[in-house]
Amino acid sequence: MLKFIRGLEEKALKRENIDFNEAYQLITVDNSYVFDLIASSNRIRERFKGKSISLCSIINAKSGDCTEDCVFCSQSVHYKTDIPEYPLISSDKIVEGARLAITHKAHKFGIVTSGKGMDNGDELYRVCESIRSLKSETPVHRCASLGILSKDALLKLKEAGLQEYHHNLETARSFFSNICTTHTYDEDVETIRAVKEIGLRTCCGGIFGMGESIEQRIELCFKLRELDVDSIPLNFLHPIKGTKLENAPSLKPFEILKIIALYRFILPDKDIKIAGGREYNLRDLQSLVFAAGANSIMVGNYLTVKGRRYEEDLQMIKDMGLEIK
Ligand code: SF4
Repeated sequence: MLKFIRGLEEKALKRENIDFNEAYQLITVDNSYVFDLIASSNRIRERFKGKSISLCSIINAKSGDCTEDCVFCSQSVHYKTDIPEYPLISSDKIVEGARLAITHKAHKFGIVTSGKGMDNGDELYRVCESIRSLKSETPVHRCASLGILSKDALLKLKEAGLQEYHHNLETARSFFSNICTTHTYDEDVETIRAVKEIGLRTCCGGIFGMGESIEQRIELCFKLRELDVDSIPLNFLHPIKGTKLENAPSLKPFEILKIIALYRFILPDKDIKIAGGREYNLRDLQSLVFAAGANSIMVGNYLTVKGRRYEEDLQMIKDMGLEIK
């Protein structure tokens, strides 16, 4: 097994593609080999990303009241959850959120809104104004996650100063109908393709622990490789009371480390970011996400779930001998 892992490490270091069978063997290694696996993915991360860890922070700029039925989401009108609901917040509040994120060393700041999408109209205009304000008043890298968008809407955001657009595929195509029935996988893929076409950076990943198979975890990874996305946020389900997945069993920490390692082997030179569910699922093993291959984490609060204190994340990165970008 050690020879097999090292062989795939060599391939990843040469940016050679790993095939489905190899990926399957990698993600199903016995737990007794997990530390050998992450020693390899750590070397791959170091080769392509060095010791630099990028911190990303988001603001929930419009919360709840979403028509979509994503089974994991507390913001869907299809589930009764206990979250604050509010319309699009002001530019001032968004800039204030970015300033706070910067003081906590976040390199990227994302404006996130609930809903299927935001094509044209007043809300899009207001988000563009907020992006202009971020550009003129802060040095932060500007991201947004506003759902399924047309190329026209994306162009307006780019003109306003947007640098990166986030839109998750959430899971593999073959599992998507178990996760969402109100829009199609192709609509999500089209949004990512449009983001790439107009020259914005793409941030696109998924959520694990929703009942998908090992094969489907690989399937999503291969789709992201095909789409050539720049940054891949990996979320691990934190079940929310009231949603369809409220009783989903949590992932095991070693299972998560294997997923992260798999993504680093298959996408050796991309940005791999650990997003939601880190604290809930990994607990004391959070610092191992970097050895497993991540070169970025989300800090601060998530959309409807509180994150841990910034200071703890900054200390964790320092203790791992890494540096903040
Ligand atoms: S994930 Fe997005 S689109 Fe799906 S229900 Fe939640 S807010 Fe709506």
